[in-house]
Amino acid sequence: MNSCVIIGAGLSGLIAARTLQNAGITVTVLEREQKVGGRMRTDRVQNGVFDHGAQFFTVRSERFEEIAQTWLSAGVAQEWTRGFADATGEQHEDGHPRYKGTRGMTAVAEYLAQDLDIRTGLEVKELHENGQSWEILAGDSNYAADALVLTAPAPAALALVDSNGISLPSKAREALQSISYQPCIAVMALLDGPGEVPEPGGVQVGGDPLFWVADNHQKGISEVPAVTIHAGPEWSREHAHSEDAKVSDLLLREAKDYLGTSVKATAVYRWQYSMPASPYEEQFVYAEGPPPLIFCGDAYAGPKVEGATLSGLAAAEKLLEAR
Ligand SMILES: Cc1cc2nc3c(=O)[nH]c(=O)nc-3n(C[C@H](O)[C@H](O)[C@H](O)COP(=O)(O)OP(=O)(O)OC[C@H]3O[C@@H](n4cnc5c(N)ncnc54)[C@H](O)[C@@H]3O)c2cc1C
Repeated sequence: MNSCVIIGAGLSGLIAARTLQNAGITVTVLEREQKVGGRMRTDRVQNGVFDHGAQFFTVRSERFEEIAQTWLSAGVAQEWTRGFADATGEQHEDGHPRYKGTRGMTAVAEYLAQDLDIRTGLEVKELHENGQSWEILAGDSNYAADALVLTAPAPAALALVDSNGISLPSKAREALQSISYQPCIAVMALLDGPGEVPEPGGVQVGGDPLFWVADNHQKGISEVPAVTIHAGPEWSREHAHSEDAKVSDLLLREAKDYLGTSVKATAVYRWQYSMPASPYEEQFVYAEGPPPLIFCGDAYAGPKVEGATLSGLAAAEKLLEAR
């Protein structure tokens, strides 16, 4: 293997890309969105800055601890808190750090993206395999590679493979088919004055319709009061096709006690694939080929930021070992 194309510049794709590039492989990352980070996403509404995908990350394994330490040392991540309030206002300090991106969660992804060949704004719709290598069409360009890494959430990854008639070993297909995700509707609300989200700027309501509320100003990433509201999975499913105005009205009403002031502007973002509801027990799904194809991301052997990072790393190591 001399070359690899990675579909997706979320955490798993970026970590896989760095690992392969460090081992001397020529890597190209193709990303549908205009920026890197995937679900580690920081966006603006006017002068407000909002994390509206992943809110923070925790560290459980030694392997991830080592990686997270490099982000902390580079200054792109820092500790936010050791616990949040619940819906009753009770604080839950448990001694375990929750980390944030220093300038928002995307900052970590931007740091990982340095020195990589990443083409943004390119959605991959066409894949071909010709016995020994992959041909990937995105935008007006063709990319050839000896190996392919697919980091899109499993249902989307499987749809891409199937729509191109790529055959998969039955074990790999069954594994991918077993993975499902919860949706999450996010509302970003730019406030007229200080909000009333309790310290340290996040409330784990944990319910439906209201799942999480965070004040990005208290979090330290927005100069002005900017509140992120996440709906629970049931409500998000129920309102998958409701109009943005309706969705934001309903959620702002639910969250009114945390806002405490008027709202200047809102934006709605719909995460069709937010968190894995039924993850797979191994760190990746591998189709040996030739040419090899490997699926990785947060649905494989551990969810969230930590799971996605370790899955991307394990997928790259598998390709290197198999070459
Ligand atoms: C609302 C929400 C809240 C969350 N909260 C937390 C939290 O507090 N803590 C935590 O640890 N985790 C949280 N997570 C989960 C965390 O964000 C993810 O586990 C992690 O970021 C997933 O990384 P990934 O690389 O597996 O996937 P992604 O980040 O989804 O990356 C996949 C990438 O592939 C791209 N892509 C897909 N299809 C194509 C295509 N055809 N062509 C080109 N590009 C394509 C996508 O645009 C995306 O950038 C949250 C997620 C959401 C949505």
